[in-house]
Amino acid sequence: MYPTLVRDARFYEFQLETDRMLLAEARKEVCLICGDVLHSGNFRRKPRGGPAGMGEDADLRYSLCCADLECRTRHTPPSLRFLGRKVYLGAVVVIVSAMRHGASPARMRKLRELFGVSRRTVERWRIWWRTAFAESRCWREAAAKLIPPVELARLPASLLERFLGNEEERLILLLRLLGPMTGGASLQAL
Ligand SMILES: [Zn+2]
Repeated sequence: MYPTLVRDARFYEFQLETDRMLLAEARKEVCLICGDVLHSGNFRRKPRGGPAGMGEDADLRYSLCCADLECRTRHTPPSLRFLGRKVYLGAVVVIVSAMRHGASPARMRKLRELFGVSRRTVERWRIWWRTAFAESRCWREAAAKLIPPVELARLPASLLERFLGNEEERLILLLRLLGPMTGGASLQAL
């Protein structure tokens, strides 16, 4: 089941490993502002809702910083774990939001308790899917290819259902699709 997957240490390791690869990719680039090289600029962030005891790196947001002392522009690569400035893991935001559709109030309460998410937070996420996400370029590009169209009111469940593969594969595909919204300039915007 999806909630178990979010708490699964092996799944978290996979996300961590993917984030390291995304960092390595970003390191090959130069500063978008001045063209200087990029240095390591990781910062501490403790994502909520994941498995416990995942070590030091689990609380690290991989990031880069321009080496030029006068520029120092931050370049934050995409992440499977951190969804912009949201305090919960991206996987928690996706799963709790998706399972909201068709869930009884009692089941929803259990789900919120499992991840320590308030009702208000779930409501904020609902609005986020319909606004920030629905207006994003990554969504519009994906949506253009989907026939019949994905039901906006049921995001992200309606999108998750359209991917092929098992639960884990679908969740990864959705987290990858969110990639452009997780770092870079959009990190400031969120
Ligand atoms: Zn620079």
